Amino acid sequence: MGQLTTDSSKTTIPAVSALGTNGHLPFVVRAAEATAARAEHAEPQAGACQYRDCEDTAPGHFDHFAHSVPGLEVMDGADPLLEAGMAACSGSDSAPVVYLRNWEASNMAELQAKVDEIRRMLDATLEFGARVFADGERA
Ligand SMILES: [Zn+2]
Repeated sequence: MGQLTTDSSKTTIPAVSALGTNGHLPFVVRAAEATAARAEHAEPQAGACQYRDCEDTAPGHFDHFAHSVPGLEVMDGADPLLEAGMAACSGSDSAPVVYLRNWEASNMAELQAKVDEIRRMLDATLEFGARVFADGERA
């Protein structure tokens, strides 16, 4: 793979044009790499938001979000086909959620289960596509 920057404010994820060695589609691999990269070199800073991926830079903010983390989206032209992010809003239920499009996980187990389900769906989509395109070649 390419390089990841060590600047904690920016993480550049290299483009991956083929399935990874684990057979997952590039966006799944990039998301995992981006998460691992942030976990490695994001150090909590005094007075900073507790969420290292939070995009609100105002001091003392109460609503936390990350909607444009590099590597957490697959585009369809200008529109996202699938995107992930997080939100943790102030109020009676301030627990964070990680979303995949309109679906939300409130803990790691839920997120892992859904990501596993999506991986299986993507693998099935490739198998399905192979059948369809092979059938389409028949005269
Ligand atoms: Zn925040």
